[in-house]
Amino acid sequence: MHLEPVVGLEIHCQLLTATKIFCGCATTFGAAPNTHVCPVCLGLPGALPVLNRQAVEFAIRAAVALGSTVNATSIFARKNYFYPDLPKGYQISQYDRPLATGGEVRIGDTTVRLTRIHMEEDAGKSLHHGFPESDRHTLLDFNRAGVPLIEIVTEPDLRSAADAAICFSQLREILVAIGVNDGNMEEGSLRCDANVSLRPVGETTLGAKAEVKNVNSFRFLQKALEYEITRQRGVLESGGRVEQETRLWNSDTGTTESMRSKEGAHDYRYFPEPDLPPLQVDAAWVARITASMPELPEARQGRLVAAHGISDYDADVLVRLIPGAADFFEAAVAAGAAAKTASNWIQGEIRRKLKEVGSDSVAAVPFGPAALAELTGLVDSQVISSSAAKDVFEAMWETGQPARAIVDAKGLAQIGDTAALEAIVDAVLAANPDPVAQYRAGKVQTFGFLVGQVMKASKGKANPAVAGEILKARIG
Ligand code: ADP
Ligand code: MG
Ligand code: ZN
Repeated sequence: MHLEPVVGLEIHCQLLTATKIFCGCATTFGAAPNTHVCPVCLGLPGALPVLNRQAVEFAIRAAVALGSTVNATSIFARKNYFYPDLPKGYQISQYDRPLATGGEVRIGDTTVRLTRIHMEEDAGKSLHHGFPESDRHTLLDFNRAGVPLIEIVTEPDLRSAADAAICFSQLREILVAIGVNDGNMEEGSLRCDANVSLRPVGETTLGAKAEVKNVNSFRFLQKALEYEITRQRGVLESGGRVEQETRLWNSDTGTTESMRSKEGAHDYRYFPEPDLPPLQVDAAWVARITASMPELPEARQGRLVAAHGISDYDADVLVRLIPGAADFFEAAVAAGAAAKTASNWIQGEIRRKLKEVGSDSVAAVPFGPAALAELTGLVDSQVISSSAAKDVFEAMWETGQPARAIVDAKGLAQIGDTAALEAIVDAVLAANPDPVAQYRAGKVQTFGFLVGQVMKASKGKANPAVAGEILKARIG
C-alpha cells in the first residue's frame, strides 16, 4: 500500500500593533512579567473589551495580500476552555463568521488554498522553568494575554514536509513584507501548528490526523512532519490506526510526543461574544488597503527579471538577501546604470563593504544609487578601468564624494590616447627582450604578462584593450 502524506497548517501571526486587541496595554515583548496588564486583559469581572482598529486594519491587509475575501460582517466568539494562562476562562476568537475566507499561497506549481483568516487574542504565558522552586511551581505572565493575532488556516493541500516548510516561509515573507508581522519566530510572533495524516494514493477521503504543536522554525516544522509521517506510516503499515490527537514537537529529542486527544469544536462551547458588536468592514476600507499594498517579494523578483534581464538568482539576492537592495538597484538603473553591472556592484563591492561595517542594509551605504550609476558609467565609457573603479568606490565610501570628482582629483582617468600608450608599450618591450622573444617563438601566454607590464608601467591607467592592440601590432 503506497501512502501519501496530507498536511494542513494553522499559523498564528501576531499583528504589529502598539497596543492589545481589546485594551490599551502595550504589546512590547520582554517587559517585566505582568506589567502590561489591566482589568480587560486580566479578565476581571465587568471589564469591557473595545476592538483595536489598527489590529483590524492589519488583519485586512494580510487577507488582501493573501487573496482572501474579507467578509463584510464577521463575529467575535468566546472559545471556552480552562487553562491557567487564560484568565477569563475563554479566548475571544472568531468562529463561524471569520474576518476573511479563501485565498492562497503558491509554492512552485502547487497552490495551497487558504480556508480562512480570523482574528483572536493571544493567551498569557505559563513559565515552568528558570526560576527558584520551578520544580514545584508554575508562574504566569499575562503580558501576552490580549495581544492581537490572526490565525491563518490552510486547506490540507500540502503533500510533503518540505513543501509545508516552504509554505510557512512564504507566508512569513508576505506577512513581514506588508508590515503586519515582525517575523520573529523565536519570540513567538509567528507560530505554526501542523496537521498531518496519511492515506493511500488515489484515496480522496482524509485519514485520521495528528496536530503537531509548537514548531517554531522552518527546519523544525520539516523535521517534525518527517518524524510524524514516518511514525504514522509505521502505525498504518503494521495494521494499526492513527489516533486523532494533539502532539508536541520536542526539538531536543527530534520526536513528537502525545499531548492530549484532540478536542472537537463542540468541546469549546463557542458562542457569540456579547460584549462586542459584529465587525463591519465596508468595501471602501478594503479598497483603500488594497490600493496601499506594496509589491510583494515574489512579484518583485519576477518583475526585476522580466524588466531588467537579470537572472532569477540575482533578483532573489536583491529582493530578499540584502535589505533595501532592490530599491537601490532600480534607482541606479533609472539613473542610467546597466542592470547587470549595477546588480554586480551591489552584490559584490557594496555587500562586502556592508559586511565590513557590520550592517546588512543598503541604508548604510554613504552614497546614493545615482552615484553608483555615475561610477559604472565611467567604466562603461572607458574613462576608468574596472580596477581603478574599485579604488574610486573605496574613496566614495570614505568621503561620500562623487566618482568623477575622485577620478579627477586622483588622476585616475585611463590613458586611451594612442601616442601616450605607444610610448609606454615601446618602453616595456625594450625592457623585456626575453618574454618578447618567447612570444614570437610561439609561447602565447607571454602576451598576458606583457599587457600586465604595460598596466604596471602606466600605474593601472592604461586602457587595457587599446594597450593590447598596440602590443599586438608591435610584436604580432
Ligand atoms: P480541527 O477542528 O481539528 O482544528 P480543522 O478541520 O479545523 O481541524 O482543520 C485544521 C487544520 O488541519 C487545517 O489546516 C486543515 O487543512 C488540516 N486538516 C484537517 N483534516 C486533516 C487531515 N485529515 N489531514 C491533514 N490535515 C488536515
Ligand atoms: Mg484547529
Ligand atoms: Zn490590558
